[in-house]
Amino acid sequence: MISDFIEIGVKDDVAKAIAEMGWDNPTPIQKESIPAGIEGMDMFAQAQTGTGKTGAFGSIILGRIEAGGRIPRAIILTPTRELANQVSEEVGKMAKYSGHEVVAIYGGASIEGQISKLEKGADIVAGTPGRVRDMIDRRVLNLADIRILVLDEADRMLDMGFIEDIEYIMKAMPPERQMLLFSATLPEGVKRLAYDYMPKPKEITVSRDEVVLDLTKQYYISVGRRNKTWALCRILDIDKPKAIIFCQTKKMVDILEERLTGLKYKVEAIHGDLPQSRREKVIRDLKEGRIDLLIATDVAARGLDIDDIEYVINYDMPDDVDTYIHRIGRTGRAGREGVAVSFVTSNEEYLIREFEARTAMEIVKRDVPDKDEGERDTVRKVVDYDQLSDPFGMVRFEINLGKNDGYGKVMLADFIIRNARIRDAAIGKIEVGADSSVVEVHRDFGNRMTMDLPKCKHKGKRIAVEVLH
Ligand code: AMP
Repeated sequence: MISDFIEIGVKDDVAKAIAEMGWDNPTPIQKESIPAGIEGMDMFAQAQTGTGKTGAFGSIILGRIEAGGRIPRAIILTPTRELANQVSEEVGKMAKYSGHEVVAIYGGASIEGQISKLEKGADIVAGTPGRVRDMIDRRVLNLADIRILVLDEADRMLDMGFIEDIEYIMKAMPPERQMLLFSATLPEGVKRLAYDYMPKPKEITVSRDEVVLDLTKQYYISVGRRNKTWALCRILDIDKPKAIIFCQTKKMVDILEERLTGLKYKVEAIHGDLPQSRREKVIRDLKEGRIDLLIATDVAARGLDIDDIEYVINYDMPDDVDTYIHRIGRTGRAGREGVAVSFVTSNEEYLIREFEARTAMEIVKRDVPDKDEGERDTVRKVVDYDQLSDPFGMVRFEINLGKNDGYGKVMLADFIIRNARIRDAAIGKIEVGADSSVVEVHRDFGNRMTMDLPKCKHKGKRIAVEVLH
């Protein structure tokens, strides 16, 4: 309820914007921090991505500074440009009715564009320490009027070596400013930063059970590229969820839509190339239950707010945690439980570890759901040589020829080259055993090994080849 936000001190016009963003109740960190923050207290909060911390400091800033300033009155420092962008977007949305101008400042983008936005008058700046410092040195960013400083993801900023820039920036602003420090972890450096600059901060700890996304169970499935459609169809056939399926590219969205439509699933797709009217129709169809499956890119699904999405499926894994959080935030809404399933190939598994660390949430490994006995798969599983290969692209095969058949390494290699039409260079290590041997062959020739060789015989014995997992 909008009144729950107003009750804890969020200004009316900000609460109105928040309601439009689909937030129903303040999160624990918002409840705890906003009243004190609005009063002007400094704050030291342990909170991860996903707790609603941006909404917390955004409400405090928008409640304490007037809009329409010539030079900024609040500054938010973030470790990365993605976060600077995301924070400025979210706070910008919250400011829809209060009229505060938010400008993002970060490296790697045109500095002139950012300068001209500052010159037009910005109330709030969200930026990375390096670029902010640079802007101060060029005298295009004046911090003389700063009333509130936010350090977001302070631990990461210190890890990235930004401490000197941060302290430099702090010296450029009035000493009596209010400071809000957010950090997922509390290493020594972060504590020092907090207590050196804040005499008596309000301390807040948000436990991991209080993460906004906690109503969403997170899983991942290890599956090769070539078997993703197989795994997807299993989930769709067995769990029958109302789901949003994310792909990394527009092209992949189109391909998957065509494939699933061909398999008689009722799906629709949205991405940035489709006209707005079409996208709106598709979203209405999903909201009103005419379809249950939507395939989307991140851009097209931004801010999508549909209450009864049961599954978010990452058909392709996103490469940064903020995108991941945004995607899985499409389910588990309005107090319902949601499920997020990510397909990861073997060389993407490190992303799972990284996302777990960044969000302090667990992403549990699960298997592709089983079909009932005798039930046929909509899509057949194939041998995915990419998934089975080592970092050099080699896959191990067992072949039923060995010393007892009169074979050594050279003869065996010759036999394979001739009968499976494989290039010499595509054969790796060979271990010859008594009755069978293990041969490494490049994944590009995997099918020839398993399809062509079994058509041959050696002295009347049929050749058998097996892929080793
Ligand atoms: P953050 O911790 O700032 O990264 O926020 C995580 C996600 O939670 C973002 O997608 C926010 O839009 C969303 N969020 C923040 N506050 C609320 C709230 N009170 N209710 C629902 N969602 C929220």
